[in-house]
Amino acid sequence: MTDDRWDADPDLGPVVVSEKALAERVAELGTELTADYEGRPPLLVGVLKGAFVFMSDLARAIRQPVEIDVMAVASYGSATTTSGVVRIVKDLDSDLTDRHVLVVEDIVDSGLTLSYIRRNLLARQPASVEICALLVKEGRQRARIDLKYVGFHIPPDFVVGYGLDVAERYRNVPDVRVYRGPVPVD
Ligand code: 5GP
Repeated sequence: MTDDRWDADPDLGPVVVSEKALAERVAELGTELTADYEGRPPLLVGVLKGAFVFMSDLARAIRQPVEIDVMAVASYGSATTTSGVVRIVKDLDSDLTDRHVLVVEDIVDSGLTLSYIRRNLLARQPASVEICALLVKEGRQRARIDLKYVGFHIPPDFVVGYGLDVAERYRNVPDVRVYRGPVPVD
């Protein structure tokens, strides 16, 4: 689908994952999760802000009861790379004891953020913790993490759209695109 508004933006490069491909893959993940969590309703933990679009679509693609919670983390580092030092900015409201937790993440680059989150959540005595990541950058992971559900493996360019931003812009772009503009200073 062409999208003149975003096609005309000089800071945006090619589409990496189209709106249509996103919708199809999210529907598939929803079907898989519906089967895997049969009889044990998951608590979806969205990692803000980037995962808000993905979580909203994914939750509706799961055809059984789910609960939703969110957490926000900040990583020390520049605007487009992660240092691996992560701080919880907004914690969950839910008690995780004996819950089946499904972490919903937008993108995995080094994997350090998710590795931290997973360790942090496992310390709260959940029944299980699995990860559903929409995008995984190829060849970039520095931490070994078990990603049970993955939407797409993508090249290691910096991308925006479908929830992902640069300096809070472009989260509402309906597909995932390469960002080619200036890198903002933190
Ligand atoms: P990691 O800890 O895996 O290196 O980085 C994960 C976090 O960095 C993501 O949750 C996201 O906030 C940010 N990030 C990594 N790559 C990208 C990217 O290509 N685009 C955007 N917008 N954020 C990214």
